[in-house]
Amino acid sequence: MNDSNVPENRKSEPERQLDREIRSLKELLDASKRIVVFTGAGISAESGIPTYRGAGGMWTKYDPDKYASIDYFRKDPSYYWRFFRDVRHDVMNEAEPSAAHRATVELERWGRLSAVITQNIDGLHQKAGSTRVLELHGNTTRFYCFDCRTPYDMPAVRRILEHQLPPLCEKCGGVLRPDVVLFGEMLPVDVIDEAQRETQLCDLLVVIGSSLVVYPAANLPYQAKLSGAKLVIINMDPTPLDSVADLCIHRSAGEVFPQAVEMCSAAS
Ligand code: NAD
Ligand code: ZN
Repeated sequence: MNDSNVPENRKSEPERQLDREIRSLKELLDASKRIVVFTGAGISAESGIPTYRGAGGMWTKYDPDKYASIDYFRKDPSYYWRFFRDVRHDVMNEAEPSAAHRATVELERWGRLSAVITQNIDGLHQKAGSTRVLELHGNTTRFYCFDCRTPYDMPAVRRILEHQLPPLCEKCGGVLRPDVVLFGEMLPVDVIDEAQRETQLCDLLVVIGSSLVVYPAANLPYQAKLSGAKLVIINMDPTPLDSVADLCIHRSAGEVFPQAVEMCSAAS
């Protein structure tokens, strides 16, 4: 499994523990007909995009309280745009989906995944091939004018950024902003409604790589549990929902999730 060439009786206790966790996850996946995968920054850590929290988290040069806050954006939009131009743009552009992103696509092909609900803004689920992705916090590759709401795509913004910071709307001169939910803003109502519907209907919700401390997004896994679904949490660090989860695995996503999905696919 983690190394199928090693005979069972030669495996160390940590290797056996890993096998047990993968098997338990596989059994829960097998027993479910309507699965929701709920992801946070941890699933993209293996694609090279830093998380905010957890080991190795946080961009050190820029302060998330500034680049991720609507109050600060209104005060000084240049801070966000410098961060975007110097750090985020390259990191997000060059990132490729991780093994766990790809395994999520595999689950969808297998016919039992009803939705991916993500807090991430990097678009990596779609890049991997997932077709039903509910983005709770928007997407950092889409933009619009704060004043007249005209949408802008990445090439247009890059072109304006070459000579102007912050980039301004070509129609009205308003400041352009990313189509993401900044701290202090409401989540998009239609997306949250749909995400709530999916969490109420699912029979298994698998959290991958989320600290589950950012609200209201972190409510969704708990809602799923209250509605009768099984709850699995795969996260490096402990989360506030560990005590109510049916299975909790404190490991990297790539270490367990792809193997469990592969075992299901092989068996189906
Ligand atoms: P978070 O940064 O609060 O927590 C990430 C969690 O992932 C940590 O608890 C850490 O232990 C865990 N983790 C790190 N590497 C992992 C791995 N390889 N496998 C499994 N777990 C791993 O992230 P969050 O809960 O998503 O919330 C932070 C907010 O930041 C979100 O609103 C999100 O929009 C935003 N954010 C997005 C990105 C992105 O789009 N890739 C990156 C950073 C932050
Ligand atoms: Zn405008």
